Amino acid sequence: MARDPICGMFVEEKDQSLNYETEGTKHYFCCKSCLDEFTAPEKELKKLKRYVVLGIALTIPIVLLTYIPVLPHQINGYILFTLATPVQFWLGWRFYQGTFDAFKHKMTNMDVLIAIGTSTAWGYSTVVTFAHNVLPFGDLYFETSSIIITLLLIGRLLESRTKTRASKAVKKLLDLKPTIAHIITDGKETDEPVEHVQLNNIILVRPGEKIPVDGIILDGSSSVDQSAITGEGMPVEKEPGDEVIGGTINKEGAFKFKTTKIGDESVLSQIVKLVEEAKSSKVPIQKLADRISSYFVPAIVIIGLISALGWFFFGGIGLTFSLLAFVSVVIISCPCALGIATPAALMVGAGKAAENGILIKGGENLEIARKVQVLVLDKTGTLTKGIPSVTDVFSVNGIDDNEILRLAAISEKNSEHPLAQAIVRHAKKLGIPISEPHSFKVFAGSGVFSQYGDHQILIGNRKFIIGNGITIDETLGKKMEEFEGDGKTPVIISIDKKLSGIIAMMDTISDHAQEAIQRLKKIGIQVVMLTGDNKRTANTTANKLGIDRVIAEVLPQEKENAIRKIKKEDKIVAMVGDGINDAPALAAADLGISFGSGTDIAKETGGIILVKDDLRDVVTAMELSKKTVSKIKQNLFLSFVYNSALIPVAAGALVPIFGPHVYMILPFLAAGAMATSSVTVISNSLLLNRYKPM
Ligand code: ADP
Ligand code: MG
Repeated sequence: MARDPICGMFVEEKDQSLNYETEGTKHYFCCKSCLDEFTAPEKELKKLKRYVVLGIALTIPIVLLTYIPVLPHQINGYILFTLATPVQFWLGWRFYQGTFDAFKHKMTNMDVLIAIGTSTAWGYSTVVTFAHNVLPFGDLYFETSSIIITLLLIGRLLESRTKTRASKAVKKLLDLKPTIAHIITDGKETDEPVEHVQLNNIILVRPGEKIPVDGIILDGSSSVDQSAITGEGMPVEKEPGDEVIGGTINKEGAFKFKTTKIGDESVLSQIVKLVEEAKSSKVPIQKLADRISSYFVPAIVIIGLISALGWFFFGGIGLTFSLLAFVSVVIISCPCALGIATPAALMVGAGKAAENGILIKGGENLEIARKVQVLVLDKTGTLTKGIPSVTDVFSVNGIDDNEILRLAAISEKNSEHPLAQAIVRHAKKLGIPISEPHSFKVFAGSGVFSQYGDHQILIGNRKFIIGNGITIDETLGKKMEEFEGDGKTPVIISIDKKLSGIIAMMDTISDHAQEAIQRLKKIGIQVVMLTGDNKRTANTTANKLGIDRVIAEVLPQEKENAIRKIKKEDKIVAMVGDGINDAPALAAADLGISFGSGTDIAKETGGIILVKDDLRDVVTAMELSKKTVSKIKQNLFLSFVYNSALIPVAAGALVPIFGPHVYMILPFLAAGAMATSSVTVISNSLLLNRYKPM
């Protein structure tokens, strides 16, 4: 089942269902007016405004003629019929259309209740007008149907007005879209509309200008204000080789960059798409609401019939008032706001998150974030910056420190591992020349083996060295423990099957990691560190950060299994890691949270992507999830219970006190209540906009 992106109703994904394809996604619609609102929102809004004006213009004389009957009764009836009929079938056509569409899909919706209710009032009055000789009744209720339809149209108008406000976050993002790019071809600069920019174009950005598309800086440097995309207030320094994001603002420097992503591929388009998708995605609690509402409509019609028949046969209030009892019940209990209860809150919640650099893929991830009990954090690159540096070189067997570094750097030269790069960086800094190894083999999560000249070099962790048949003596073992106790990561080097030394490295803890962990613990979440590093180093870092549970010495391919094990403890587990190395673990968790480095957001693993490297955003995401879901619940409550509470009144609870004449005003109260509940639901969702992360 697909979901109507306008009203949120479920529609079957069949070819004959109304659908519309845009940007590669097919959207399905419950009815023509929803489709029109989606494809041409301004036109639909204009039409709605015109209908409201016409509705009011026709309803005023209807009301006047009904309550101040200056004309002869019979003529008055014909005039009222002439005025009320276009309101019923022209202005109110959308409700019939909605009813047909619902029946076609063997479903019921709010439009069914509206169509039945108003048709009853109109039909009864029409029969009375034209068959006055036959029937013993004189009262007409054309004003009932006209007022209800006009009020409902006003309600829809207010609703679509507030709805446009709800998608403000997306609008804000779209407003970032730059218009002009200075393209450099053969040294000459031309100004072109952004749509003309191609991949691998060279583009010049001057101080204060908006960066037109995504790319990599070739020449020049500057600081860039990325706050609109990442929510990060501080400008970011950029130099050749760094990525820039289209839509962000260049501060003082000028630079040239090569375009890497354009159009739908760009970071900005991907964010907009994610936020929009969140609105029409399914949230588990919504399923319950849908199930209830599928029983709700028929149940209401039955309640209406029972109360009408009851009043007619046993209450003795006459046919007219009995019919009005039916109309009142049907109209009053129509939970019109139901369709927008979930999407309105999701839209505002996802928009608010995006404003803070948190991208949530779909409603289910937003829903689960608030339930997380255990948060597993990858150490390297998540809790630490992932850029270690060499702190100590310890050599044994009389080899020179620099010689150890040289051979280690040669072995590690072709490894992408952060530890490898740290060793290479350190050797370069000391001016040590690094030649190519003759052969090398990387063992993920363990180390590297290489051959250089006649030398066979092994470099890696304890297990790796021991596994290669080398015994670690007492001096070296003690030294290892000493480094680990300091929170350093030592690797052992063996040259030609002989122990040669240790290189110890230390990573810096990420900014705000400590604060984030404190806040997570405060809200009752168990924080776990997961790492391939050795136990002692991991424990030292964990102690510094206040993490109580550590799972260390885990091979990369075993991380996924570690997550599964925690899930078996009957806990809801979220995993935070980098989207590339930890992808299987992120996928195994109930919720994967990854740091999107600002490149390919849509392809990033993980249900939540944090655009800036700040662990505190995990807390913000959880808080927003809690707030959004409670808004959805409030909205569902408002739209269901609100209307249901009035059912007894509509069924005639007040008749014994005020007499059957309460039915003269009840239909209007009902219509008013419905319109109010829609507007209340949207306004309630908009309250989410006031949320500010700590
Ligand atoms: P993490 O979980 O911290 O990202 P890894 O699983 O990548 O760590 O690696 C675990 C351990 O294996 C490292 O702490 C290190 O001791 C050893 N190791 C992995 N790759 C290398 C390498 N290229 N050179 C030396 N040691 C390595
Ligand atoms: Mg890692």
